[in-house]
Amino acid sequence: MPKKPQPQKPNQSSVSNTSRTIVFTFLLVLCGMAIFSVLNQSSPTEEVALSDVISRANTENSDISKITVKGTELEITLKDQDKPTQVSRKDPSGTLYEQGLVDHCVDLSGDELADCNSKYPAIEYVEAVDVWGIVLDVAIIFLPIIAIIIFFKYMMGQAQSMNNQNMGFGKSKARLYGPDKKKITFKDVAGNESAKQDLAEIVDFLKSPKKYEKLGAKIPRGVLLAGDPGTGKTLMARAVAGEASVPFFSISGSEFAEMFVGVGASRVRDLFSKAKKNAPSIIFIDEIDAVAHKRDARGGAGREDEQTLNQILVEMDGFDNDSGVIVMAATNRVDMLDKALLRPGRFDRHVNVTLPERKDRLEILKVHFKNKPVTEEVDLDILAAKTAGSSGADLANIANEAAITAARENHDKITAGDITEAFERVAIGPERKSKAMNEQERKITAYHEAGHAIVGHVLPDSDPVHKVTIIPRGRTGGVTWFLPPEDRSYKNIYELKDVLARAMGGRVAEKIIFGKDAVTTGAGSDLKNVAELAKGMIVEEGMGDKTRNRVFLDPDTGYYTITTGKPYSEKTAELIDAEIKSLTDEAATRAEAVLKANTEILDKLAAALLEHETLEEAELAPILKGATLPTSAKLH
Ligand code: ADP
Ligand code: MG
Ligand code: ZN
Repeated sequence: MPKKPQPQKPNQSSVSNTSRTIVFTFLLVLCGMAIFSVLNQSSPTEEVALSDVISRANTENSDISKITVKGTELEITLKDQDKPTQVSRKDPSGTLYEQGLVDHCVDLSGDELADCNSKYPAIEYVEAVDVWGIVLDVAIIFLPIIAIIIFFKYMMGQAQSMNNQNMGFGKSKARLYGPDKKKITFKDVAGNESAKQDLAEIVDFLKSPKKYEKLGAKIPRGVLLAGDPGTGKTLMARAVAGEASVPFFSISGSEFAEMFVGVGASRVRDLFSKAKKNAPSIIFIDEIDAVAHKRDARGGAGREDEQTLNQILVEMDGFDNDSGVIVMAATNRVDMLDKALLRPGRFDRHVNVTLPERKDRLEILKVHFKNKPVTEEVDLDILAAKTAGSSGADLANIANEAAITAARENHDKITAGDITEAFERVAIGPERKSKAMNEQERKITAYHEAGHAIVGHVLPDSDPVHKVTIIPRGRTGGVTWFLPPEDRSYKNIYELKDVLARAMGGRVAEKIIFGKDAVTTGAGSDLKNVAELAKGMIVEEGMGDKTRNRVFLDPDTGYYTITTGKPYSEKTAELIDAEIKSLTDEAATRAEAVLKANTEILDKLAAALLEHETLEEAELAPILKGATLPTSAKLH
């Protein structure tokens, strides 16, 4: 909630403070009582036996239209009624499924589902109502209002002030997705076949635990989904819940981080107890790295996180293998996780979710263009080819942006142009046609981009130039696109060195044309890319001249990290720095050699860019024709 800084008078009267507290408490109690009475009014009174409910629910054309499960309580709504009138209770130790309540419509969709729903009752899982939780939530809503009223009083001259204190709320914010109609299944997750296979096994565990127990197999307790952001980890976890038709309790690690001191651990406890009550069920802790980063990595700053993490460990150790609760977690940073979490009996199953390959990208695009009308010329395969390195979330985003663009342009179908526009917008940010660059800036940008394009075109191991533009987008002045012909798992050192050289091409072109003192800020991101790639080549890939085949990784984590300190001597560190510098220098030298050998083409391309702003492959070809590769830029 927004907190206004409250002016504080040093000598405020303690009497007015006390009376305000009384008024305050009174209001809270009033709200609470109002809610309590509302809840009491709506709760059904007629108690019926569970066995009765189950036999009625399992017959076709049941008299029950809906069963709402709240904790151990089942509220029953009859067909001709719109509110629950009967109530029943399940045995807290068992699950409804074991006691015979079956959700008949759970695996259906479309017409079949509608048909099934008209015969059998809908079964809905909701969080058990926690009256105090509601009272406190209401208090959260009213606190700012009361604070504002009091603030105005203060302004009107009644010297008053108020201590705005945080109140701790220990209720779990976990969202519960019951096995309801809007469920997500593996069909919604395109590509990632191997991850889906791993998870299908988890679904089977949840559906028929007996099968595994009979053979003495231990059901996994913790499954860790690891992968880059936007690769569909959250989506997959929800799909597991959907496939297994079990309740799904989800909370995000970052929500723990927002909490007041001491609350994280109690939320974890609350979350696990809810899940156990609704077993079989899934607990999903998204972005678990927010609470479970290495305890030493942060010094003493993370005590609250530590308590939360400890509570997760305690809960995971505490439940039996047959409790029917599986804990899933997702993270972008396995290397950051506390090792205690990864021990056997905790998150010992790892499922890697990877960035999609070309054919998977096509599948993902198909999923997201499924309900969007496109013109005939649209070829999603071309888009899949262009989007190497994009995550599922990026692709979903492109599909959505394309629809928005089409609507804005009043097209009745999405055109290929809309899709290109959307792709570029998502990749680098929207075009800023309105931001006027002055003539000098445009000229610098034109030479800068022409530099990238020519170096990339001339060097033999670089990807082909696809498009060059000097229309500013997002934070960049212009862009040169290179099109990777196919996804490849490996890149050789010559290809990487050509990437470094063409990235230097921008700034080098500026230097050649405008003099070595005309250093502008436009090349910052190029230089950052060069620095990162060069470092990766040396420390991760063993590509250094003097350090060939040696990598400089952290022995504990397998990753090169700054936080854990250097696992090598100062002398080696100097060697690494020298290797990185030599890669960068070589790149600049090669770029300069190429551009100096092709100054005429550089001028011609810059002029064409100033005139047309954007040049596609076909327009670039005649300009770049005849560009030469000087021997000094050759590597092999
Ligand atoms: P993560 O949790 O890995 O960061 P999400 O699961 O939140 O990623 O993915 C974000 C969105 O991206 C999803 O809601 C979905 O629309 C889209 N998406 C990601 N991966 C896929 C996929 N494999 N198939 C279909 N859509 C996907
Ligand atoms: Mg996520
Ligand atoms: Zn650049």
